[in-house]
Amino acid sequence: MPNGDRRGAVTGLGGPPLTLIGMIMEIATGHCYGCGCPFTFCPDCVVTIAVDPMANRAPDVDAEGRTQPPDPAAVARSVQRPVCPECVERANERRAPGETIEPESDRHARHVGVYGTSGGVGLTNAVIEQLAEDAETGYDVARFRPRRG
Ligand SMILES: [Zn+2]
Ligand SMILES: [Zn+2]
Repeated sequence: MPNGDRRGAVTGLGGPPLTLIGMIMEIATGHCYGCGCPFTFCPDCVVTIAVDPMANRAPDVDAEGRTQPPDPAAVARSVQRPVCPECVERANERRAPGETIEPESDRHARHVGVYGTSGGVGLTNAVIEQLAEDAETGYDVARFRPRRG
């Protein structure tokens, strides 16, 4: 009887697998280029802006904030800086319909979808167990990339 109780507790532990995947996937933290707020993001899906570190602004924007033809040298030395979802939303409010930036959450939903159906195998607790084991031994992200066929 006590054994039966324990087993019940273990099966009840399930929880939503996709949340667990989200936790295992690479998550980065950084400061938003737009507002300077620290935020966490998926490095594969986050919206980024190219910033010329010498001028500390996008190469196609001049000191007055006007659009200018980008200097190729400035473009070449530019680095990608993350932009938080709030700033993407604010930017989209000023953009013409059809020219809006796809938010990180939309891209990440597809991203997680790809991971969730890795190799056409449905997400099961056994898969999660493997991920957890791999994480302990230093797992290889490439293994979770979708396979053809
Ligand atoms: Zn921001
Ligand atoms: Zn992602």
